[in-house]
Amino acid sequence: MNVKDNLISIQERIKKASERVHREPQGVHVVAVTKYVSLERTKEALQAGIRHIGENRVEGGTEKRDAIPDLGTWHFIGSLQSKKVKHMIGKFDYLHSLDRMSLAKELQKRHTGQAPLKCFVQVNVSGEESKSGLEPDDVLPFIEELRSYPVIEVAGLMTMAPFVDDPEEVRPYFRRLRELKEEVEKRNYPHAPCRDLSMGMSNDFEVAVEEGATFVRIGSALVGNES
Ligand SMILES: *Cc1c(COP(=O)(O)O)cnc(C)c1O
Repeated sequence: MNVKDNLISIQERIKKASERVHREPQGVHVVAVTKYVSLERTKEALQAGIRHIGENRVEGGTEKRDAIPDLGTWHFIGSLQSKKVKHMIGKFDYLHSLDRMSLAKELQKRHTGQAPLKCFVQVNVSGEESKSGLEPDDVLPFIEELRSYPVIEVAGLMTMAPFVDDPEEVRPYFRRLRELKEEVEKRNYPHAPCRDLSMGMSNDFEVAVEEGATFVRIGSALVGNES
């Protein structure tokens, strides 16, 4: 399928999911996860009207961005090793995987731009061993501590739900992330407006939208999973 047709059908599904919970569909941004696909396919996504590109590797992602430097908003969505920070800084507009203080320290050291780096704090809501992210109880103290890292702006929270056949099963995790986000947002921390929720992938984005996602990260259903 071409990206344009996939995008049209995904947008239709987002619209329906939004309507079910009386949200404006414009409040949901689609991040096209291009980690599996070529530069050509990434360009096709941008031509189809995609504004947000997600990559989970520093090398692959920066290569693509360098090839199309003026297009799109770039999201780093994978787990980020501290030693790779110096290579990603300046190349990505959002980091979705801030999950430890040592990473915050490295970002503080390497960041050079004027504007702070918009970050999502990654939360392991499901408690699966294989998933990275903070435990829910650690999120507030972590965000309070980030006050001492002025290059970091906490745009919101991010989670990856377990992979299941029936996406209804992951609804409680998305709901929990939204509740956590609301707790942080309520504090009105200048460094942590925390208005956004990055959750939902190809198999569960409609449930995520119903539970308040503002960024859905969609790879296979949108651009496919091979180049
Ligand atoms: C790969 C990936 C996605 C997209 O997964 P699909 O199931 O292909 O939509 C979303 N988020 C993260 C963090 C990923 O690594």
